[in-house]
Amino acid sequence: MTEGSLTLVATPIGNLGDWTPRGSEAVQRADLLACEDTRVTRKLLDHLGLKVEARFISYREQNELTLSVELSEQVQAGKHIVLMADAGTPAISDPGFRLVRECRKRGLCVTATPGPNAAITALAISGLPSDTFLYAGFLPPKAAARRRFFSEHQSAEYTVICYESCHRILKFLADAEAVLGAQRCVCVARELTKRHETVFSGPLGSVGPLVAQRSQKGEFVVLIAKASYEL
Ligand code: SAM
Repeated sequence: MTEGSLTLVATPIGNLGDWTPRGSEAVQRADLLACEDTRVTRKLLDHLGLKVEARFISYREQNELTLSVELSEQVQAGKHIVLMADAGTPAISDPGFRLVRECRKRGLCVTATPGPNAAITALAISGLPSDTFLYAGFLPPKAAARRRFFSEHQSAEYTVICYESCHRILKFLADAEAVLGAQRCVCVARELTKRHETVFSGPLGSVGPLVAQRSQKGEFVVLIAKASYEL
């Protein structure tokens, strides 16, 4: 029996030009394609002109637990499974961790075709220190819990990276300013790699109003620098 594999294939976070040739190879040799929303992935592969023989299966938060056991058994049986998120790198604020863990526990081959990730892209272009950072993902939606998070990281000696939705971005920035102060240096990166990409770096007291004046449609990454940092 040949050895099976699990390959995490990163997909564009906005610009289709960021799809990788290795991503094409992986999906074309896959037996099974596990993706969050099969319609989104089919549409992407159609746009890319890729003919894919693999069976599609929806792998999402709700069925991750049971499906990760089932899929890892298939890898063990010699199948090549590709895991894709709707956008970006699977398992990073997206389903994937449980399947990877299950395959690792069984000593199976887990690999990746690396590519787009909103957090690392924003960090790299932010102008905030990129040597040491904490990836926090989505903060709690409730204001009190979010403010607690800011207090706990008030004296952090590293850059904190958060994801935020368009609905909460202004509340996020207001809470951050209330706890960390108007002088704290941040970066707000919106719609990375897309036509309306906007990146503001500077003190919260200046960046907050700039974000508020513009459209808040789209997707956001917010980075918070250590207290001593000035741009
Ligand atoms: N797995 C993805 C990755 O590798 O970046 C993250 C998926 S998470 C469900 C979606 C969040 O990522 C969005 O709410 C936003 O915070 C961030 N994001 C994704 N694409 C983005 C983009 N083009 N510009 C800014 N933020 C983005």
